[in-house]
Amino acid sequence: MVKKCMICGEEAIYKIKDTPDYYCPECAEENFSDLDMLVKVEEEAQKLKNFLKEKMEDIVHTEEELDKMIVMKEKNEDVQDN
Ligand SMILES: [Zn+2]
Repeated sequence: MVKKCMICGEEAIYKIKDTPDYYCPECAEENFSDLDMLVKVEEEAQKLKNFLKEKMEDIVHTEEELDKMIVMKEKNEDVQDN
């Protein structure tokens, strides 16, 4: 599951900081003269999120909840390593 551009539905590689708004390169350039306000979707973080989202899509409904789940998971893994 990849993030889709909120305008055209193509695969998004940019997002606006601190928002759930995603854009493909074409729409990002059309709508933002200054691409500095956009951040590149972090591929590794996104893969992890997508993986977890698939596993948890029945219980996690927002990106914010998902972030909390990831933090909890990381803490659990730390405990297991010790
Ligand atoms: Zn687009």
